Amino acid sequence: MVIPLKANQKKLKGISIGGAWNVRYEQFVIESITFEKIANPQKTDVNACDEPPVIDTAKNGIINEKLSAWDFVKQLGAGLQYMVFIDAPELLDFGMDVHPGNAFSKPTKEQIQFIKSKGFKTIRIQTNPGNDHLMDKDYRINPSYIKHIKQVVDWCIEEDMYVIICGPFAEYGIDEKYKKRVAAGDVHFAGYFVNENDKKESERFLRAVWKQYAEAFNNSYDEHLIFENLNEPVDVFHVENVHSWFPKDDCSRCKKAYEVLNDYNQLIVDTIRSTGGNNTNRFIMINGLGAKCWTITSKNFKLPKDKSNNKLIPTYHEYTMGGSAAFDQYSDYYTNGIKESILETFAAFDKVYFSKHIPVYVSEIGQSRRTPILERIKWIKDFMAEASKPSRSCAALLHVDGALKDDGGFFSGYYDSWKLGWYDEEFVDTFIYGAQGKDYPLSADFVKKNEVKVESIVGKNLLKNPLELKNWEGGYKLTSNVLALATPAKYKLVFEFERKGSDPRFNIGYNDSRLNWHEVVPLLQKSGVKGGMIDGTTIKVKAKTIEISVDEELAKQLEYTIGIYLNGKDIIIKSMKVIE
Ligand SMILES: [Zn+2]
Repeated sequence: MVIPLKANQKKLKGISIGGAWNVRYEQFVIESITFEKIANPQKTDVNACDEPPVIDTAKNGIINEKLSAWDFVKQLGAGLQYMVFIDAPELLDFGMDVHPGNAFSKPTKEQIQFIKSKGFKTIRIQTNPGNDHLMDKDYRINPSYIKHIKQVVDWCIEEDMYVIICGPFAEYGIDEKYKKRVAAGDVHFAGYFVNENDKKESERFLRAVWKQYAEAFNNSYDEHLIFENLNEPVDVFHVENVHSWFPKDDCSRCKKAYEVLNDYNQLIVDTIRSTGGNNTNRFIMINGLGAKCWTITSKNFKLPKDKSNNKLIPTYHEYTMGGSAAFDQYSDYYTNGIKESILETFAAFDKVYFSKHIPVYVSEIGQSRRTPILERIKWIKDFMAEASKPSRSCAALLHVDGALKDDGGFFSGYYDSWKLGWYDEEFVDTFIYGAQGKDYPLSADFVKKNEVKVESIVGKNLLKNPLELKNWEGGYKLTSNVLALATPAKYKLVFEFERKGSDPRFNIGYNDSRLNWHEVVPLLQKSGVKGGMIDGTTIKVKAKTIEISVDEELAKQLEYTIGIYLNGKDIIIKSMKVIE
């Protein structure tokens, strides 16, 4: 690498070389440093590549044209995420030699063989060409990036595995470092946005990316190679109500995002099909808005029109227990509410897809290793039991990331790409067995050692400090984790108050796991409120304590929320307790 010194620099006191603090895992060796006098030194462009575009030139290919998506998905078995192609390390210019910024080692064939030997049949390669791998304003992808992907794809195929190439991410567009690069005119960075304003340019980007992918992978690949439109396409700018990740059918902006994404999906399918050959009949997975289960069953979602029959697979991501502890919907425990949510999801799929012989693919499923292992195991076992019912065609792929130590709440890795090992194997095996419709036998010892005992919270004050509520400002949020498995099946919530004004009122409500708001007070009409009077969605506080009854249904809901909220006016809530 050539690094020009300042012009007219006569002397150097020394050279200081430091590790890049934000690249956690990569190592490299500087073999030598030499000084050369050059007339017009140019800094090495780490993105430069003089290789020709990667084109699959095989004239003829064999692909099983008659295979339907329904029968195909039943063959995919357990899948594993392989996310080595998504990041420029914290957007530093490492060039093509090092691309995993997320703690994975560089890909090797041994890794693929190791993953296969565990029992995985499918690998999903996430890609992000617009993150430092573009060559120019026409969105030409660095050929060496595609070659790297192709190498891994070929290894998978040689091992008789299925491999999914997934299109780009949507959320990088709001990353500050990314925005700075784009603003500075850096052509190596570009992306797409799921909104009307950015639609034209986004379409140009998506068409370019998918044309290059489809030209690079065609007749040499049969149905073992699958394309997936996009990774978690979200309207990143629609953040005011967190609708980016929790799209709503009745929100006009979300409706628009659905429409824009439907158009992108159509464009991607058409672009892939236009390359002919085996891509005419290749299976294509279609990830819906925000990758949520309810957005692919929404009336606003459209599977693209396709010249080929039965080759499209609706796809979403499943994090029923919240995935990462960094998210509000995270749960340490597998509760009845979570179980019910799984049944609800499959009931919706039965109606919209399975009854019509259309499969569903779960291109990510996962839960943080921070979660007690037996709780995770119960959850994924139940999920896979539903997915593998004979009346359904549904396969799933385990999400793993590269963080092998819990660094503050993210998913953490089940798979060690450096030492070739597994963490929490009982969980991984339960998933793999589940994909085959089988139960993984856990030893009695393991169960005994990991059985979760949650201390009852009955009688304990759930508020850390007294909560002063003046005028519906500064409400309080309680996470579900506090209540999960810690209460009787039904109970009373008792609040202790101090009056601070003439019209003391109080409200309680919660966001369910799909971020739909629910008022609790109207549900109390039948049981009444001891010490208070129901007035619409609020309780007029009449005494020093009020008591509300939480029946079994509500208790189940309160265990599985994205926050329970307390608010009010003219009061201080001194305590909040669960009483049997
Ligand atoms: Zn919205």
